[in-house]
Amino acid sequence: MPSNIDSVALYKTRKMLRELSSKTGKGTELISLYIPPKKALHEVLNNLREEYGTATNIKSDSTRNHVQDALTKTQQRLKLFKRTPENGIVLFVGSLMTNGPGSEQVFVNEIIPPKPVQTYLYRCDDHFHLEHLMDMIKEVDVIGVISIDSTEAGFGVLTGAKIVVDEVITSGVAGKTRAGGQSARRYERLREMNLSAYYNRVAKHAKKIFLEQNKIKGLIISGPGPTKDSFLKSDYLDYRLREKILTEVDGAYSGAEGVREAIDKSSDVLKDMRVIEEKKLIQRFLSEIHKEKSLAAYGIKEVMDATTKGAVEVIIASEDLNMLNILLKCNRCSTDKNKILNRTSYVQEKQKFLSESCESCQAVDFTITETDLIEILEDKASETGTRIEVLGSGSEEGRMLMSFSGLGAILRYRMQ
Ligand SMILES: [Zn+2]
Repeated sequence: MPSNIDSVALYKTRKMLRELSSKTGKGTELISLYIPPKKALHEVLNNLREEYGTATNIKSDSTRNHVQDALTKTQQRLKLFKRTPENGIVLFVGSLMTNGPGSEQVFVNEIIPPKPVQTYLYRCDDHFHLEHLMDMIKEVDVIGVISIDSTEAGFGVLTGAKIVVDEVITSGVAGKTRAGGQSARRYERLREMNLSAYYNRVAKHAKKIFLEQNKIKGLIISGPGPTKDSFLKSDYLDYRLREKILTEVDGAYSGAEGVREAIDKSSDVLKDMRVIEEKKLIQRFLSEIHKEKSLAAYGIKEVMDATTKGAVEVIIASEDLNMLNILLKCNRCSTDKNKILNRTSYVQEKQKFLSESCESCQAVDFTITETDLIEILEDKASETGTRIEVLGSGSEEGRMLMSFSGLGAILRYRMQ
């Protein structure tokens, strides 16, 4: 994935897709609307007015009301925009149950996608049309890695920030030194034959993994010693893969270790890949943490405080942070209070928080607003000119960040 894609937009899109994929309407009443950047909003609003008119023909009272409600809410939401955003907008609107039958409420889910919307689409269906958004976030830059020596070969697939070692095959080829008693020439010939069979297998695997199962954009060949050269010199590898070779890396390892080593050593050719960007961020963060006068902070409270003070250069959040800010506004005196909860213990903690009475008037009657913590951080960050990066849960860097409670920051200056 090219690094110009906003990692927060990507995070929000993934999250929305997860939440909406299981939702279904009672009837044909869920609206999906994709607006490309060039489409004028007044045209879209006209279109929605026409759809509203058409909806009067729907026989079922409940479906008709739901569709018309959804159309009204969609128009209201669009009117908040002065013009179509740079990447367009995607809206999913419809009546969804909140708490069993009869509890339907119209939800407006809006997303500014990480890449431009390509074509205008309006659909009213019994489910949301998420597939176009899914296609949009599928990572396009896939890089293949073959790490080979005479004993084993590893095959890796690098997608965005995720490295998957697909397979490791062993050669079964004996070492160069023969055991006593064998004819040297015969031994050498046998070894050559075995190597040739092994190269054939490697080439076949490469074709299967990099051309059939994945469509790679580039290929890295690595390994210690001359095996990779003799593999490449003879014509084993499919010409389509040969054309995609980005670089050859001299490494210390082969197999699975070699795949990771090759990616580390190819940061120049991969500089636009998300994985390199994430590695650099984490390396900077870790090196700061180990310094005596550290310009790093981690933990939810620490990072929130530093961001509010404008002390943060870049916030690094894990996609698995899984925290939610819950804001309660007293319905009697409007005093509000908030708390950050982990989604895993969310239900109990929310109940507990809801049952605590208002500090000012002692009432126990609140309006609840729940916001994902990363979205809260995004707001705070934009107020203070702070960059925010979300590290994908598939990456090693993302997992490493989880040992720092999933949230870190590189500071502009040291905090007291
Ligand atoms: Zn109150």
